[in-house]
Amino acid sequence: MFDRSNELGAWDRDHLFHPATEAGAHTRGEIQTRVISGGKGVYITDKSGRTFLDAFAGLFCVNVGYGRQKIAEAIAKQAKELAYYHAFGDYGTEAPITLSKMIIDRAPAGMSRVYFGLSGSDANETNIKLAWYYNNVLGRPGKKKIISRWRGYHGSTVMTGSLTGLELYHKAFDLPRTPILHTEAPYYFRRPDTTMNGEQFAQACVDMLEDLILAEGADTIAAFIGEPIQGAGGIIPPPTGYWSKVQSLLKKYDILLIADEVVSGFGRLGRMFGSDHYDIRPDLITISKGLTSSYAPLSGVIVSDKVWQVLVKGSDELGTIGHGWTCSAHPICAAAAIANLELIDEMDLVSNAHDTGAYLRSALAEALGNHENVGEVRGDGLMAAVEFVEDRDNRIFFDASKKVGEQVAAALLERGVIGRAMPQGDILGLAPPLCLTRHEADIIVE
Ligand code: PLP
Repeated sequence: MFDRSNELGAWDRDHLFHPATEAGAHTRGEIQTRVISGGKGVYITDKSGRTFLDAFAGLFCVNVGYGRQKIAEAIAKQAKELAYYHAFGDYGTEAPITLSKMIIDRAPAGMSRVYFGLSGSDANETNIKLAWYYNNVLGRPGKKKIISRWRGYHGSTVMTGSLTGLELYHKAFDLPRTPILHTEAPYYFRRPDTTMNGEQFAQACVDMLEDLILAEGADTIAAFIGEPIQGAGGIIPPPTGYWSKVQSLLKKYDILLIADEVVSGFGRLGRMFGSDHYDIRPDLITISKGLTSSYAPLSGVIVSDKVWQVLVKGSDELGTIGHGWTCSAHPICAAAAIANLELIDEMDLVSNAHDTGAYLRSALAEALGNHENVGEVRGDGLMAAVEFVEDRDNRIFFDASKKVGEQVAAALLERGVIGRAMPQGDILGLAPPLCLTRHEADIIVE
């Protein structure tokens, strides 16, 4: 914690509007900013010199870990040679071109092009516009609604905040309710009917989705968006059969599938993409975080050949596709991503996420699984959640005002480990850098 009486503390209190902040508490000094000043591997250090094991990889994004010189050098080299040129129309720079090839080489089958943005939120804005454009070109202007899920997180711009199915991101913003629709989260632990097994619950979720499609009219629905495993909503893996049932339904009603792989992309689930892990064949894929391990801001939409062919038809008929921003395909960010993807391969991080992830989750289950206040230990790859309950046997949940998840995260921090209290429910989330060792996993569990 830094001293608020010093200059930096005063500037922070008086001038920096932190994202996702409690503005009043911050202004009054009731919450204090921990200034992080260094990092190496899975550890970060604050300005007072205290070191923490970062078991959430920043905001589940620093996949290769901190302090990777290779990425720093790639950024510096690109900045010195050519910091910027745009990619509008018939211009481009080398790094994003090379990167687009590297991404398609790693992407699920059927993907053909990458559009680059700067954040997961703006990439999902691009997805919405592409889904609209696609249907307009195909002569179906009524097909515009996008279905997302409760507890889904897709960003916090106007449209993507609206997609996001978490209360916190809607409160007092009056985000547009149309053309966004929400359907049930595949949240097995909190299923209303506890007699259902995973597959029955998956079917129940898909039945609700079909009811929504039929009630609205399939000819009004453009796309369904979902994270392969729900992340910010509570680290919720899909129950058995969920994705194959969802995909059959979307096919039946000719609805595009957008896989939001901002968290799951680039190794987190022990496969390069979550879509491959769960056998999802999306029409559009959102990427960000793990693409550069957040060494530089970069996102993308991976476009399938099916959608690309329609975009080509559209631009042949209508001219230039009027979508793009100044820093799309930024060369410095792309250079960071190239070095990051090379490191993921060189360090074999995808396999490590699979192996060390399984180790971490089973050690957590062993240590905590029988505790009376632990309802469930769940996850996949290097994503894990511990959900706390007041009474496990009688499925009584804690009153939200007790903020049990936050209390546990604070207690963990005291012991030198950073986990994250997820915003809805008493859930501690863990998603360490993919370079985590078994020894470091043991420290988290301990
Ligand atoms: N999609 C998912 C699945 C996310 O987890 C996030 C951020 O956590 C986003 C989109 C938004 O990304 P950004 O914060 O870069 O706008």
